[in-house]
Amino acid sequence: MIVSITFDVEQDCPPYLTTTKGMEEGLPKLLDLLEEKRVKATFFFTAEVAKRFPDLAKRVVDGGHELGSHNYNHERLDKLSRDEGAKAIEKSLKVLREFGDVVSFRAPNLQFPDYYYGVLEKNGVLVDSSRATYKGYGDGVKFFGSVLEVPASTTSSVIRLPWRLQRIIHSRLREPRVYFAHPWEFVSMRKEKIRWDCRFNTGDKAIELLGMLIDHYKSQNAKFLTMREYYPLYGNLKRD
Ligand SMILES: [Zn+2]
Repeated sequence: MIVSITFDVEQDCPPYLTTTKGMEEGLPKLLDLLEEKRVKATFFFTAEVAKRFPDLAKRVVDGGHELGSHNYNHERLDKLSRDEGAKAIEKSLKVLREFGDVVSFRAPNLQFPDYYYGVLEKNGVLVDSSRATYKGYGDGVKFFGSVLEVPASTTSSVIRLPWRLQRIIHSRLREPRVYFAHPWEFVSMRKEKIRWDCRFNTGDKAIELLGMLIDHYKSQNAKFLTMREYYPLYGNLKRD
């Protein structure tokens, strides 16, 4: 069984908040948990956050995790002109590549018009994870030109549901199971004026539940892959 743990690293709950507690408190806790569990994850950073918190981007790379791009400043690609969107992606890669090799991308809000596969290809991106099975994308892992699409499996709040409930959801997901969450979910958001699904079980409870998710898969001998690791694994599909 193949599982991936991914994080979209951005300001707290955009566009509702502009704070960065996710970076100040959430991300260090996440990195500690992953180190303790010996699991490598993928962190899709906005370039803006990497510039503001360079030590965190370095810690991700030094910890053996994958650093990916989540665009420059969380711009939604469906709301930009093609030219503006391409420029934002290029600019984000330029900043993030100062920290290490960056070959994976996830579009903000998972809004990714097909046109952008060509933009990623031109910029040396190998893996995209901007599609979501839970949003109706049903093609599974597939090449678009030279870019491998590895869709996200569930919405981020699923991994904060009570364990007994989320366990049922996990068993029904098709493989590979690609989870995603945000650093701000690991900081208590209970008092913020944001949607309920962005608040419940945030903070330490979310850390505990993520630990349970990891243990659940470890007990089944699952293989945890970073996004870039799918590329060689599925490389043979490209020639078919
Ligand atoms: Zn995002």
